[in-house]
Amino acid sequence: MSGILIVAEHTRGALADLSLELIGAALTLKESLGGPLRALVTGETAEDFVSALNRPGVDEILVAKTDNPHFDAAVNEEAVVSAALAVRPALILIGHSASGGSFAAAVAVRLGSGFAADVFGLEAAASGVKATRGAYGGKVNVELDFPDKPVVVLTVRGATFKAPEGVGGATVTPLALALDGVKGRCRHRGFEEAPASNIDIGKAEFILSIGRGIQDEKNVPRFAALAEKLGATLGCSRPVADSGWLPKPHQVGLTGKVAGNCKLYLALGISGAVQHQHGMKHVETIIAVNTDANAPIYAVATHGCAMDVFAFADALERRIG
Ligand SMILES: Cc1cc2nc3c(=O)[nH]c(=O)nc-3n(C[C@H](O)[C@H](O)[C@H](O)COP(=O)(O)OP(=O)(O)OC[C@H]3O[C@@H](n4cnc5c(N)ncnc54)[C@H](O)[C@@H]3O)c2cc1C
Repeated sequence: MSGILIVAEHTRGALADLSLELIGAALTLKESLGGPLRALVTGETAEDFVSALNRPGVDEILVAKTDNPHFDAAVNEEAVVSAALAVRPALILIGHSASGGSFAAAVAVRLGSGFAADVFGLEAAASGVKATRGAYGGKVNVELDFPDKPVVVLTVRGATFKAPEGVGGATVTPLALALDGVKGRCRHRGFEEAPASNIDIGKAEFILSIGRGIQDEKNVPRFAALAEKLGATLGCSRPVADSGWLPKPHQVGLTGKVAGNCKLYLALGISGAVQHQHGMKHVETIIAVNTDANAPIYAVATHGCAMDVFAFADALERRIG
């Protein structure tokens, strides 16, 4: 067993960013694990994604062309197991997404492999690979290794690893699948669009984020207007999204979005729970405003302001006019 296999995913003609991030994740271990890095892509239009997957460091792209126009968990499970039996990788990386989650564990069971889900850290270990994931609702990080497992299957969290840029020199190999008895276990019922949102927390450079400290839904428009005036994207903590004060795409954190491109994060009335910090603690400059001087947000803030958010907003509004 050697090398790494990543499993690409795509929906309605678009390759998921996560597929390229898996290549980035694999590259962090390629040298230590040895062997080639392969990408597997399946589906009726599998060939369409070959050139996008041909990034530096990818040695081979396995194309499992099927006649199913939509994602099918059973077909993907079969494709990954077939590819694994054909090329014998030491590590298989699958996206921690709705589609990845629907077949990754089944693949691990069939291969008798080590398994961990929602991994956000990878390191080489004496026994092969060490994976980091959260536990107890994200309150602690757990490091796992997999002694005596010749193959390990991991699902990897999105927006965690950087996709490599540029064009590689991968070879392309068709992979024939025996799908008798596999197809038809699931039926595609249609696509349902998530509510439209014109904000992208992952791409925003300046985020003004509000938490339960703003007290009431009726105060949201004031902070939304302030964000707009400052040229900031409006973010929020989970209770703000869960209460329906703002739509879910505004939420920062473990079960929201990671502020991956943010340079300045203004946290207003946010306590700074670990799950919120997961999405923002890496930001270069964090300004926190919270009446509680002992709030956990101050542990990660660059500048702190232990005052009332409304008095802070008054002062800022006076300043910017
Ligand atoms: C599995 C799991 C996943 C989660 N995922 C997320 C996630 O993705 N994102 C997320 O945010 N949370 C997440 N949470 C919830 C998280 O644990 C916290 O409950 C949440 O972040 C708290 O939000 P908050 O800071 O707005 O509210 P609170 O914890 O209630 O904090 C409000 C803060 O406002 C301050 N405040 C009050 N009044 C004022 C005022 N007038 N002026 C200034 N400050 C004031 C208070 O001192 C307090 O610190 C998750 C929890 C679990 C278990």
